[in-house]
Amino acid sequence: MITVSDVKQYLYCPKIIYFDHVLHVSKPADQKLETGKEKHQEMVGKEKRRKGALFYDTELDSAEKLFKVELESSRLGLKGVLDYLIRTERELIPVDYKFGYSNDGQAHLNHKYQLAAYALLVEDSFQTTVRRAYVHYSRDRVNVRIDMTDEIRRRTSKTIGEIARIVEEEIEPGGTRNSGRCIDCEYRRYCSGVAV
Ligand code: SF4
Repeated sequence: MITVSDVKQYLYCPKIIYFDHVLHVSKPADQKLETGKEKHQEMVGKEKRRKGALFYDTELDSAEKLFKVELESSRLGLKGVLDYLIRTERELIPVDYKFGYSNDGQAHLNHKYQLAAYALLVEDSFQTTVRRAYVHYSRDRVNVRIDMTDEIRRRTSKTIGEIARIVEEEIEPGGTRNSGRCIDCEYRRYCSGVAV
């Protein structure tokens, strides 16, 4: 079963899926990941203390807040742990925290589809339809709304299928053409396809 993080990684660079799920290479300890976990705890603490949900949005004042929601779907072949789920009388709204900057007020592409994958899992687990989701970027304090359109559903399902195919058929895909992504890549030392 693949994870929602795989969706994010695949859109960063498809080769990461191959290193992780086919070759099972060992990864060096990731300091950024540890820092991210600490910051995540901080963010959850703040959100628990807030009167309303999602940064004082009055529309969500009486919403129930669920944190670290474990989700799994055998139908989708996907699982993940969602940062934050807002439950109102009318809808469920997935939220993902990111500890960086937004893309000029928009979601980064891999974050957008990561969140859409969470939304599909929420739909499957709670037998509901998710209409919107949010990515919160802590550095510039931006909440980006993602509308769950037919197009985003189709593209997300297609991405999940492509990842599953790499894993099942042990296919080595091409890497990213964005050389900037290779600079900090933790798989760089294994990779013969570093973008230049
Ligand atoms: S070094 Fe570049 S091409 Fe290789 S896995 Fe990392 S991001 Fe992808």
